[in-house]
Amino acid sequence: MTEPQETQEYPCNECSAGVMHLKFITYFTWLGEELITVPNFPAWICDVCGRREYDKKARSWLTALLNPETGKDVSIKNPIRTRLDPRPPTRPTPE
Ligand SMILES: [Zn+2]
Repeated sequence: MTEPQETQEYPCNECSAGVMHLKFITYFTWLGEELITVPNFPAWICDVCGRREYDKKARSWLTALLNPETGKDVSIKNPIRTRLDPRPPTRPTPE
């Protein structure tokens, strides 16, 4: 039985011994000063060295979702621009 199955795995090019598997993880990214968590985000993870690569489509989808103007990797770049007015404790929000 050799079903043509979609290649959902590929060799890791970091350690070249492991295999990258598609897994769904919680992705963290910064939107301005807000830390956004995205559950069930597709990522390729090496089963040997743990190298992580994010699905390009999912990345661009997320980028577009969060901010259509930016298409680059997120990073904390403006340490000077910290808020001087910390928000009051969160009010209970109905869910
Ligand atoms: Zn690896």
